[in-house]
Formats: sequence, structure tokens, C-alpha cells
Amino acid sequence: MTVDFEFRKQVMDYHIGSDLIKYCYQCSRCADNCPVTKVTTDFYTTTGYNPRSNILNALLGYKAAIFDADPLTIWGCTVCDTCDEVCPQNIELTEIFTFLKNQSIARGDGPDFVYSQAEQIFLAAKAIPSQPAIERRRDQLGLPPVAAPDVEEFQTLLKNMGTNRKLK
Ligand code: SF4
Ligand code: SF4
Repeated sequence: MTVDFEFRKQVMDYHIGSDLIKYCYQCSRCADNCPVTKVTTDFYTTTGYNPRSNILNALLGYKAAIFDADPLTIWGCTVCDTCDEVCPQNIELTEIFTFLKNQSIARGDGPDFVYSQAEQIFLAAKAIPSQPAIERRRDQLGLPPVAAPDVEEFQTLLKNMGTNRKLK
């Protein structure tokens, strides 16, 4: 396995709390408590999502093991923050995983569902478009109707940030 020292340095620099990632001692508490690992990992094989492996590969600079693997390796994380809470070394794993996801998009090889979700947000200026059922429920609860977002303003903002160029 080739070590990518530049990638390793980027990971170290990104991590909030300076070099805490260096002190991961692979106890596996993150993986033992991760809900995604629970539903994707076969006990008798090494397949499935594993935050401990991701931290190890990032720590060692094994870039290919992260980016050339199944997209689940990076995108399986739902950012529930459980691993951050249980890590005995106070490593903010989700910060590292956010960095890996951003890198994946910058390389243009994020999974299709991420691009289609981002495109929907770009088109509607909302993560979850309003639906009649939601409006009815709000009405029953005495809540005001949801204000429609300014799609044009939102898209201008994203274009100015260059975000739209990252959509496929
Ligand atoms: S819980 Fe923390 S120290 Fe233990 S393997 Fe995970 S990241 Fe490393
Ligand atoms: S934040 Fe991601 S890696 Fe951590 S426990 Fe939740 S799903 Fe697993």
C-alpha cells in the first residue's frame, strides 16, 4: 500500500484539535457503536462500513484505500456523531469524514445519489420540497404555511461560490 504523505498532512491539518488523530489506538469503540457498521458489516468478513478503518487509513496516508474503494467507505457515514461521543481519545472522527467527503466531491467521484440530492437542492432551494401532506399537517397544528424560498437568489449564491460546478 502506497503512503501519500501530502494526503496524510492534509488530514492532520484539517483535524480540529491539532494532532489528536495521531493518538487513535485502534480500540474500535467507534466501529462497535456505529449504527451503519452494525447494519452493513458481516461479522465473519471485513466488508461493510468501518470508521476505525477509515481513521487508520487516513492516519497512515493510505489514500487509495479510501478513494479507490467502494463509495460506502466514505459515504456510509450519516454524521450521527456517535463515534465522536464514544472515542476515548476525543478524536472528532466526523471532521475527518467530512474532509474525505469534500475530497471525494473535489475529485468528481462522489456517488450518484449525492449528486442527484445536491441537484434537487439546487433546483428547489430546499432539501425537502414541501408536500401537500406536510402543509395539511402544519395547518392542523395551527402552524403558518412554509414560506417559499427565493430560488433565484439561492442559485446565484451557489454559482458565486462555484458550488454549481461541482454538480454533475
Ligand atoms: S474510538 Fe477513537 S481511539 Fe478508538 S479506534 Fe475509534 S478513533 Fe481510534
Ligand atoms: S458519525 Fe458516521 S462513523 Fe460515526 S457513528 Fe455515526 S454513522 Fe458511524
